[in-house]
Amino acid sequence: MSLRHGRSYLAIPGPSVMPDAVLQAMHRPSPNIYAGDLIDLTDSLIPDLLHVAQSTGKVAIYVGNGHAAWEAALANIVQEGDRVLLLATGRFGHLWADMAERLGVDVDRVEYGKRSPIEVDQFRDALKNRNDYKAILTVHVDTATSAKSDISAVRAVMDEMGSDALLCADCIASLGCDEFRFDDWGVDVMVSACQKGLMTPAGISFVYFNDKAAKVREGQRRVSAYWDWQPRVDPQMYYQYFCGTAPTHHLYGLRAALDMIKNEGLPSVFDRHAVLARAIWAAAQVWGQEGPLELNIAKAEHRSHAVTGLRLTPPDATTLRNWTEENAGLILGIGLGMAEPDDPAWHGFFRMGHMGHVNPSMILGLLGTVDAGLKAIGVPHGEGAVSAATHVIAAATTGAPLDDQIKSCCG
Ligand SMILES: *Cc1c(COP(=O)(O)O)cnc(C)c1O
Repeated sequence: MSLRHGRSYLAIPGPSVMPDAVLQAMHRPSPNIYAGDLIDLTDSLIPDLLHVAQSTGKVAIYVGNGHAAWEAALANIVQEGDRVLLLATGRFGHLWADMAERLGVDVDRVEYGKRSPIEVDQFRDALKNRNDYKAILTVHVDTATSAKSDISAVRAVMDEMGSDALLCADCIASLGCDEFRFDDWGVDVMVSACQKGLMTPAGISFVYFNDKAAKVREGQRRVSAYWDWQPRVDPQMYYQYFCGTAPTHHLYGLRAALDMIKNEGLPSVFDRHAVLARAIWAAAQVWGQEGPLELNIAKAEHRSHAVTGLRLTPPDATTLRNWTEENAGLILGIGLGMAEPDDPAWHGFFRMGHMGHVNPSMILGLLGTVDAGLKAIGVPHGEGAVSAATHVIAAATTGAPLDDQIKSCCG
């Protein structure tokens, strides 16, 4: 029998769960795009978008997904014949770098594999080799591996080596989940999108930049009219915000989402994600004590608070995902980019998305459902995983420091 009827839970790493407040804000007739509330509402998004990234720079909005923001960022800062360096911690950075190649840019890549964040020693060596890069491309949280990198450490090495490249970060998975400090970490360009930590249906994306990046944009031989960020951050006419018709309903949805973040308070949003991630890690650690289940990223400080990559013996990850969807209404993420889809190993990876509108009842439901699934499909696992997660959550509400929460359950 299937027990899935009830509210289903999309626990993939984007698109994330949409709050009712966001959906309700979007449920309305089309507004006038030439005058009226929409204009003020759009203006009001800018300071709040900057706040989420802890930036005092500029942010341009694009009608498009994360891939659009990748191309938008590149279109403003590089041109044919330039050279950029990618620090690759999973699949997503490579896709961004491939896009740069399609624009005629030469790309060098430092490969950190599928289980590691950026390590600065290899990066320093790459800069010793050559130091004429126009941009360094990084991914704060790689959604395929769930590795989180220390972007400020990248900046420190750039300064040490006298690199005048632009430091670029992809925060599509992390913005509003894992703390990101645009100004303090010395980031020059950052890309993000609305459908992950920002809880809005996919369709708009963002490029953040500072004065240094704006100067590079001014020195370009030419910049494509559509991707040019300049009119978007200084619109003389409303349509210039978007180079055309506004993504009207997305703007209402995003306004509601940013209000939710504001009301909760950004530090509390980050803490909530940190606690829920630790609850997941605690459960995974217990499962793994007597069976093959394993967190993809070994060290806690290298793991994202937005997405968790897990390993099982193939094909059990696929069997588990099918079981949770068919029997319990829980949709887990596929293992993206860890193996090719026609390789049997592909069926040994899965991911949990825990970004945005998530709380303990959802995460404990997710963990309990996975626990039931492991039992139903006959994967050996340690007992007591959900209980371990409940200890983390209980400790958090009594004010225990984050790292004691892990100790409270798993020693
Ligand atoms: C989701 C994601 C992307 C791609 O975003 P799309 O909206 O699918 O184009 C890029 N980078 C990271 C880190 C992501 O998580």
